[in-house]
Amino acid sequence: MAEAAKKSRPEGGYKIAVLDGDGIGPEVMQATRQVLTATGIPFEFIHVPAGAAAIALHGKAMPDETLATIRECHAAIKGPTGTPIGGGHASANVALRKALNLYANLRPVLSLPGVPSRYEGVDLVIVRENTEDLYAGIEHVVVPGVVVGMKVISETASTRIAEYAFEYATKHKRRRVSAVHKANIMKLADGLFLNCCRKVAVKYPQITYDEVIVDALCMQLVKDPTRFDVLVLENLYGDIVSDLCAGLVGGLGVVPGANIGQGQAVFEAVHGSAPDIAGKNLANPTALLLSAAMMLDWLDEPVAAKNVRRAIDEVYSKTRIRTGDVGGTATTDVFTRAVCDQVTRFVQEAQPL
Ligand code: ATP
Repeated sequence: MAEAAKKSRPEGGYKIAVLDGDGIGPEVMQATRQVLTATGIPFEFIHVPAGAAAIALHGKAMPDETLATIRECHAAIKGPTGTPIGGGHASANVALRKALNLYANLRPVLSLPGVPSRYEGVDLVIVRENTEDLYAGIEHVVVPGVVVGMKVISETASTRIAEYAFEYATKHKRRRVSAVHKANIMKLADGLFLNCCRKVAVKYPQITYDEVIVDALCMQLVKDPTRFDVLVLENLYGDIVSDLCAGLVGGLGVVPGANIGQGQAVFEAVHGSAPDIAGKNLANPTALLLSAAMMLDWLDEPVAAKNVRRAIDEVYSKTRIRTGDVGGTATTDVFTRAVCDQVTRFVQEAQPL
């Protein structure tokens, strides 16, 4: 049976701000637009610059014009933006997350059938605080040769991210939330983060709460990632642990993400701009496609979200079509066409005869 037209679906379709980004961004974004179109849901894609293209046009990696468009759209989807190391322009992502107060970074890490990886059955969720910590970017030279960088941890942001993690766990029927810290060393900063998590945890007695030191977590994840469920982390630990977890399920090409605030969300893959393979039709679009599925869920389009996820599972589990990073030889275009064909098939199967 066809899905009934949803009352909440806007007349002219969803307005989606599209930020192509740098490196492989435009390629994986083109793939994502094609797959979103195949779902049959009407979208108006509004392209806005971010990253290198934005610097050329506006002198800023995350221009005010781009932020204004995102605010006017139903959701935004973003490709990776590169940030120079040790100098150069400020991060587009940090600016975006701060400007729109996208305080929760959600990264589900899931084994995909048919994707070669060290472990099977990984199903954990990273909830990363997205607005403070060392990412506050407050650093200064005290005297030549000595630099101080500030780690900012607040009660407000720590409580808010802990509440997000427990609410997420409740809604998605997860059993356990683990707070990740280094409070044995950073007694004040990480101690505050832990105290906030503990206070929130008592309000959710149905969910098991525990705490794990970040270095021990890394070791335990590498030994057996299946023992973790929902992880709640400060910004920097969340960034590092995300890449570690991506490595457990097949690499950066397959892990999606979402930056979520109050009534606003920007969906983007965990991976960066991968300049080594940019423009070569080699990039794996799976991570951004799965981010688009998260966007469909967020827009309350669960059927379309499921169709995208099922289509990806079908291609990986029933064909040999896959990109080089996960052991195949297919181009981005060929893989995308295979996913689109599956989505189209699911949509057609659901049509009434
Ligand atoms: P940035 O500076 O933007 O973070 P980076 O190349 O340092 O870019 P990533 O892009 O996150 O970091 O990834 C590291 C490597 O992983 C890339 O160089 C690339 O070889 C591989 N990689 C990342 N994403 C993908 C993808 N979607 N498809 C295929 N390979 C990928």
